[in-house]
Amino acid sequence: MKKIILFSLVILIAAFVSNAQDTIRCGADEHLAKMLAADPTLQQRMDSIEYETQLWIANHPHYEMKYRITIPVVVHVVWYSGDPTENISDAQVQSQIDVLNEDYNRRNADSVNTPSYFKQYASSVPFDFCLASRDPAGNWTNGITRVETNIQCIGADTIKMPAFGGDTAWDPNSYLNIWVGCIGEGYLGIGQYPTGNLDYSDGVVVTTRAFGRGVYPDTLLSHYNLGRTTTHEVGHWLNDMHPWGMGGGSCCTCSDNCYDTPYQNGPTFGCPSGQQVSCNNGPNGDMYEVYMDYTDDACMNMFATCQTARMMAALNGVRQQFLNSNGCLMNGVSDMPNLKSLNIMPNPATDNLTLDINLMKTDNIKYSLINVLGSVVYTNSVGTSSGGKFYINTSHIPAGIYSLQLQLTKQTINQKVVIIR
Ligand SMILES: [Zn+2]
Repeated sequence: MKKIILFSLVILIAAFVSNAQDTIRCGADEHLAKMLAADPTLQQRMDSIEYETQLWIANHPHYEMKYRITIPVVVHVVWYSGDPTENISDAQVQSQIDVLNEDYNRRNADSVNTPSYFKQYASSVPFDFCLASRDPAGNWTNGITRVETNIQCIGADTIKMPAFGGDTAWDPNSYLNIWVGCIGEGYLGIGQYPTGNLDYSDGVVVTTRAFGRGVYPDTLLSHYNLGRTTTHEVGHWLNDMHPWGMGGGSCCTCSDNCYDTPYQNGPTFGCPSGQQVSCNNGPNGDMYEVYMDYTDDACMNMFATCQTARMMAALNGVRQQFLNSNGCLMNGVSDMPNLKSLNIMPNPATDNLTLDINLMKTDNIKYSLINVLGSVVYTNSVGTSSGGKFYINTSHIPAGIYSLQLQLTKQTINQKVVIIR
């Protein structure tokens, strides 16, 4: 009997370890440790980036009202020829971009689940993620590349190497590179922190089994089918840390260098409810609802204000080249499938705005003005049209910086509009 119990115990432990290996939420810190070991100058550069981050935050207390930032994204789908389900659809890729835009702008439907005691810390991040409309050479693209490989599980490093079956990054100063494929080692995702170098490993890697939102629930892991693995990893790419700081937890003095996330003793797993107190952080306990924790997708719903500040600091510091990226601009692209040009006049505007929309062929047109908090302040669905001039009365819209979002059937274009008085 003793032997049977022992044997059962071994099986149980093996099952637990196996399950844990299937779903290690994030490998960002382990990836960083490898990079630090390989490059003796990296720690110094990261210390310098951290110093600049804190300085920028101190000098920009009202950063959130300044402007919106567009982040062009290229998704590299690297799929094993023996498993065509890894060659995910364009729709599944788009669902992930939608999740990023909702989560970062706090337009996520489950934002209502943020507990009342943490709502004051919940923050909207003024970023627009778009699938790149032009590649580094200036040619039209849908922002998705596809590489078939005969390697069954290519791995997080090799997926970035074309010589070994992966796909090379697009200019990391102009595009957020996301590789989707089999990472192995049980990781769901690995985001690379900013290193201060032009580095073609820059970007995030996400397992196919946790990329996108429930389009094909049979291929997505049930606890990670809402696209939050990518939301989390892009947070690292923008210099956010886990709430328990660097390392694996069990440390009540380790910090994520954020002023509004409480100290906590390590990752949160599953889907807890109520206050989970650690590190004397009562009564409210760990802020396990933040995307940077390890909670199940359905149980995370916010970025904290300081996490937003760190990301803004990254895009105004170590990643400031993104402010000049042409990756999602449509002007000057001659061979795009439908939109020929979009001119917005005048800009800055006062009481009226004219959109001159020039299409290749008839399309379904909708356009909206979105403020820096992500709220739609004006929208108009034209329906089927061949384009032309459209007018917006802006006399009742407060002065400020807005994103003019033009939606066609297969394209969404964002351009900055300023309204002055
Ligand atoms: Zn992480």
